Amino acid sequence: MFKALLVNKTDDAGYTCSLTELDESQLPASGDVTVRVEWSTINYKDGLAITGQAPVVRSFPLVPGIDFAGTVTASDHPNWKAGDQVLLNGFGVGESHWGGLAQMARVKGDWLVALPHVLSARDAMALGTAGYTAMLCVQALQRHWEAAGVKPGSGEVLVTGAGGGVGGVAIALLAGMGHAVVASTGRLEEGVYLKALGAAEVIERSGLSAPGKPMQKERWIGVVDSVGSHTLANACASTRYGGAVAACGLAQGMDFPASVAPFILRGVTLYGIDSVMAPLAKREAAWQQLARDLDRSKLESITKEIGLAEALQAGPAILAGQVRGRLVVNVNA
Ligand code: NDP
Repeated sequence: MFKALLVNKTDDAGYTCSLTELDESQLPASGDVTVRVEWSTINYKDGLAITGQAPVVRSFPLVPGIDFAGTVTASDHPNWKAGDQVLLNGFGVGESHWGGLAQMARVKGDWLVALPHVLSARDAMALGTAGYTAMLCVQALQRHWEAAGVKPGSGEVLVTGAGGGVGGVAIALLAGMGHAVVASTGRLEEGVYLKALGAAEVIERSGLSAPGKPMQKERWIGVVDSVGSHTLANACASTRYGGAVAACGLAQGMDFPASVAPFILRGVTLYGIDSVMAPLAKREAAWQQLARDLDRSKLESITKEIGLAEALQAGPAILAGQVRGRLVVNVNA
């Protein structure tokens, strides 16, 4: 038997998520690798799955958790054997396939990534999909800047949703590379925390989240946006000539009330970032760079540890914007 969160939807009880005990024989037969999960995490999407606030869960009953790290206990997949340390992000796990908020998981071996040697399973989940997505955003900007000959320190980089998971990791990565990072947040009281992560300046998010002009004063050489809606539109409108915006999130909204002006008059590039179905080579490159470049003391400063039962309360809290940085889940606590 093992402990797990389980989401269910029935005519009488409605949408529920509770801590329960399951038998290994109940794990999905469609997987070919069984993993003893050691650490998982709470991302924004896990908040949606735990609360049912948006329909991310597509089959019931389902173990939520889009991420996990742990040790292979059995494998019918040629790439993996018992004892291998692995991590998983996305691929529909925690949405349509049983996920990581549990002590055991069975998944397709094609979805797994080897845990980089210098990272512990806890480090990997302190990063989780949020950290890996921040890395994908930063890599998109790095490729853009390299092609354009733009050097760190030659202009400001905006990070929106700075107090959240993607935002925190993006600030630490960009500041570590020598960029002047401007952190946009609705929690100015977290200014000390954001500056300790490496932000050169902290700005109030209301300056970006209201409707703005299609073209604004040029400021950013690049943007990591996890917020969407008017914030993304304003970020594009204030990006410098030839600059780039990496868009990965929708914390403010899924809409994009923008004009084409920044793209056709300033040559601004908008990169769409998807972590869920990203090919394996892209994932491995992101994880290798996280292992190499991210200051682990900064990661620790944005991480709070919780147990599996506390994950139930963490779901609504992350949707309410009340979580700072990252929540790592000790599934054995
Ligand atoms: P978090 O909840 O940790 O962070 C989101 C942050 O956005 C909040 O902390 C808050 O920052 C800000 N925010 C929240 N509500 C609003 C609002 N109404 N208006 C403006 N800002 C707001 O989530 P994550 O960092 O884990 O994820 C961020 C986004 O990225 C989510 O939308 C998520 O779905 C998406 N995502 C997408 C992925 C992909 O593959 N494309 C992968 C991972 C995440 P502050 O308090 O500092 O203002």
